[in-house]
Amino acid sequence: MDFNQALESLNPSQRDCVLSKDDTLQILAGPGSGKTRVLTMRVAHMVLQKRIEPHRIIVVTFTTKAAGEMRKRLVQLIGEKRTSALLIGTFHAICSRLLHKHPAYAGLDPNFTICEPDDCKLIIAQIQKDKKVKINDFTRTQMEAGAILGLISKAKSEGINANEYYEIYRDDFKRKDIATIYLAYEEELKRQNLVDFDNLLLKTCVLLSNKGDVLWNIRSILVDEYQDTNVVQYNLIKLMMRQKNDKTITIVGDPDQSIFGWRSAEPKNFGKMAEEFAGTTVMKLERNYRSSGMVIDSALHVITQDQSRVSKTLYTNNPRGVPMSVITPQNSEDEANFVAAEIKKTIRNSKGLIQYKDIAVLMRMNFISRAFESTFRLNKIPFTMVGGDRFFNRVEVKDMTSYLSFAFNPKDINAFKRIINVPKRGIGEVTLNKILDVNEAEKDTLLETLDKISKRKTCMTFTPAVIGKLKDFINICEHIRAMIEDKSPVATILSYIYRATDYEKYLKDKFSQDWESRWENLGELLSIAKKAHEATVELHEYEKSHDKSDEDETTFVEPIEVEPVEAESVDSEPVNAKPLDAETNDSDDGSEVLDLTSKGPAIKTDPYLKQEFEKIKTEDQGFNFGGFGLRDDMKQEFKTEEQGFNSKESGLHDDPKDDASGNINIDPIAEFLEYCALCSSQKELDEAEDGKVTIATIHAAKGLEWPCVFIVTCTDGVIPHSRSEDMDEEGRLLYVAMTRSKFMLYCTAPKQRDVWGKRNFQSVSSFLRGMNPEVRTDKPITWDAKTRALLAETLGKPVPDESERKTQAKNVDIRFGAAGTDTDYTSMGGFSSAASLKRKPNKSSKKNVKTESN
Ligand code: ATP
Ligand code: MG
Repeated sequence: MDFNQALESLNPSQRDCVLSKDDTLQILAGPGSGKTRVLTMRVAHMVLQKRIEPHRIIVVTFTTKAAGEMRKRLVQLIGEKRTSALLIGTFHAICSRLLHKHPAYAGLDPNFTICEPDDCKLIIAQIQKDKKVKINDFTRTQMEAGAILGLISKAKSEGINANEYYEIYRDDFKRKDIATIYLAYEEELKRQNLVDFDNLLLKTCVLLSNKGDVLWNIRSILVDEYQDTNVVQYNLIKLMMRQKNDKTITIVGDPDQSIFGWRSAEPKNFGKMAEEFAGTTVMKLERNYRSSGMVIDSALHVITQDQSRVSKTLYTNNPRGVPMSVITPQNSEDEANFVAAEIKKTIRNSKGLIQYKDIAVLMRMNFISRAFESTFRLNKIPFTMVGGDRFFNRVEVKDMTSYLSFAFNPKDINAFKRIINVPKRGIGEVTLNKILDVNEAEKDTLLETLDKISKRKTCMTFTPAVIGKLKDFINICEHIRAMIEDKSPVATILSYIYRATDYEKYLKDKFSQDWESRWENLGELLSIAKKAHEATVELHEYEKSHDKSDEDETTFVEPIEVEPVEAESVDSEPVNAKPLDAETNDSDDGSEVLDLTSKGPAIKTDPYLKQEFEKIKTEDQGFNFGGFGLRDDMKQEFKTEEQGFNSKESGLHDDPKDDASGNINIDPIAEFLEYCALCSSQKELDEAEDGKVTIATIHAAKGLEWPCVFIVTCTDGVIPHSRSEDMDEEGRLLYVAMTRSKFMLYCTAPKQRDVWGKRNFQSVSSFLRGMNPEVRTDKPITWDAKTRALLAETLGKPVPDESERKTQAKNVDIRFGAAGTDTDYTSMGGFSSAASLKRKPNKSSKKNVKTESN
């Protein structure tokens, strides 16, 4: 579909939003009303019709997955090259890129690396150990590093730094120890040249405050899921906008879907923006395209219980659909069995309209997933888990990225600890602690410390055997550093590390059972690095020729005549507001290209990969890939220059990493490490694969949609959560979950559940009480031709051929035996469907189904 066709497919209100000439635009609308679609179209409109160069547009999405989806859509609308030049990413990705470009202005060393939450916890645990601080929370159990990190992170997202926190809580009995740890934690991050996720944002605020012209040539900023921005993110947007007075901003969001209050999100940022940005226009969308009428009505029943909510219209022209099923299995085990059985039944009875990938199992909290995972495994239901053992967190992948990280930033203690004895070099804990003590005393990088130890220039003595082993390690790290300095492709560096550490042998020795799949993972890592490299090269080529490249791409689109808006109300409310302080900048035009190109999972059969492995096998010593030769000067000692950052007193100086064109040419290695770090900790759906049921938390399901949604363990105490202080946010959470569904919606609430080892009796979530019986039933969906026709219509798919209906029904009965096709599961008591589920699926059930796969 080209741009004009896509524009015509929108309703008049949506089109009006896309083409709006307003500089500050807020689109406030309910779930499924096309906010993300409109935002995407607005980007295309800016590129194709307003002719804004793509690298002057920043699009902020809430998750990497959402950024990827948007890119896919934009490729169709504006072409691949232009899409790759757009700056699409999460706040974290965009900030990381800016900081790597201008580290000095944020008070950072250029070789900083991102510290993932798991590593942050290790740092906190170490501080607790060193400082002997044991923190008791209100229930008098020792507070874990994760909980302390949570409190620190909350303070940061409210914009409270360590010193301020200390000042506030120094005399507070409960918080003063947290304040002490917060201070030590920040010092440790600085010492190790690390930036945690919160600091990515905070340091960027510092950068933008100090260097007024960083984003001066950006023309437009667009933000999706605005309701979940926190104070720091709002300030970031303000700072981004401040840098030139002709920037435009478009934000889209829905206050009813604000579910990150616990992470200090501030839905009132909508109002704040309207007050602070001159002439903010607010537009609304009221038609939902995603869900059936029943789904919307049941969701509205939940959200309208919030008395403080500003009421808004949400309607759909989709079919009425089927009622939501509220099922109360006996216990958690039965609940998982029920969902598994129902999934199998749905796949079969929907006659191809619903496949595994069209189904999501959503839950309030992560731990609930365990029962579903094991039941799905037992019943051979393919599923993908959010926040499971993610690729970049796998042992072997993390080992290799730690080698890269450490060579790039030899102050990173966690990375050092991880690799100093991997593969085994006989460096034990005693030696490791001695090295760290020397390092702390000497105040230099760990590589410098190791070098001094190997040359016996330290006060502590080490045995010759240890020194010999350390020398091997130093050699490897120095080789990697040299390759980094020479800007070798990351894939080449990885190949070297694999071979220099003899990692394949290590895997064979240590993981005899599954070493091959682990080795394959490293192949995958190499492919990812290769793809990342290609994307960067492509981007730089685009950057050089972007004026000419338009000819090969989707041509520009002349503005079309757009019908006047009539069908839906579009409130355009110019809000009186004081003008924003605009800072003009007279610099020469310098096109900045921030490459946030999504580098999706690589192909295992990548010929490059094979070639690299062949080289690994055939070459002897040293590393010689890609014409890489070791220069003498590469072995020079690693220098750490203190960045002479002195804020305003010293006057701003040019960042050494700036190049003349103003393009962002950060180290390929920094780019790659940034990608690994951002991917490894996001609890989101970017690893979801086709053909699998998704198991996710409600928070991770934001912005997504499935034809069939199960909201599990939907009981009082879980949702609303017994310890939640904000009932309205609990209601919004359930509302978000329900509105992910296009057609089938199940809420399951086990009557009994074990909580801390004690059996608890539970009732269905109070949010679901008092619902109109027309939209709520206590029976599972009844599958018949009418249901399928409704489903097909809602999904915009052809209605399945019903001519073989009788045979189908018979088969289903046989397979499910006593349980029957539409058994009343609510009265099943000790329901045990596992046996029936294990029977072979009936292949004939899918035949004659005419449907397009989506
Ligand atoms: P959420 O609040 O959940 O993020 P949203 O407002 O961003 O929802 P989208 O995800 O953009 O909504 O759209 C919801 C669904 O409706 C998508 O499948 C989208 O393709 C579809 N849709 C939106 N507008 C139209 C339209 N004019 N015609 C057909 N389908 C549409
Ligand atoms: Mg959306």
